[in-house]
Amino acid sequence: MQISNNTETLDFLDQVKTYFQTEKTLYGEDLYLDYDFQNLLRSESEKKRDVLLKLFFHVKECRNCDLAKSRKKFVFGSGNPSSRIMLIGEAPGANEDLQGKPFVGEAGKLLDKILAAIKLTRNDIFLTNILKCRPPQNRDPLPDEVVACESILLKQIEILKPEFILIVGRIAAHYLLKTTAPLRELRGKVVDVFNAKAIVTYHPSALLREPGLKRSAWEDVQLFQKLYEQG
Ligand code: SF4
Repeated sequence: MQISNNTETLDFLDQVKTYFQTEKTLYGEDLYLDYDFQNLLRSESEKKRDVLLKLFFHVKECRNCDLAKSRKKFVFGSGNPSSRIMLIGEAPGANEDLQGKPFVGEAGKLLDKILAAIKLTRNDIFLTNILKCRPPQNRDPLPDEVVACESILLKQIEILKPEFILIVGRIAAHYLLKTTAPLRELRGKVVDVFNAKAIVTYHPSALLREPGLKRSAWEDVQLFQKLYEQG
């Protein structure tokens, strides 16, 4: 690689620093000697994909809480790692547990319709949950499960660096906003989370149970659309 001027030198050193910081965050000191200089020449999106993939295999082996014993498949998340938008829900349900994908089944179909209404597809964003394994009988996540799993979500956010986050459901809103307020008080306004602009709305499963909430959810996602289109 030829470095022709001071600006390029600084850019190159900045890339080296970012690379090592990311490796250290994800894997500790051990992999410091396992770097590949070719990686520094790759695009940001390629690097994000690689780092996310490494995290995926880390989660695959995760046994940090008892949900690892009952899960059929873990649900890492899916979508576009280069997107400016993340959608964060609560935890996998029965269908997600079977398929290893987030937001599938009837709730997933409804989510696809909601996204389409604001000119998005699930391939335009990155979808994940706070927990990567299903709580039995879809019960609420236990506090110690959330604590055990939170480093994975935090690493995903660190890698993806979303500018906009759509928070779906009470559990995700309470965890991300560090509050216990009712969801109706949290929705409908822009909040700052992890250096991103975020909006809280109802989980698609709640909309299936209570169709009367759809009007409020529609207002929320329209606000979200304005936010990311102006951002
Ligand atoms: S829920 Fe999270 S912490 Fe618990 S086993 Fe699954 S990935 Fe690990």
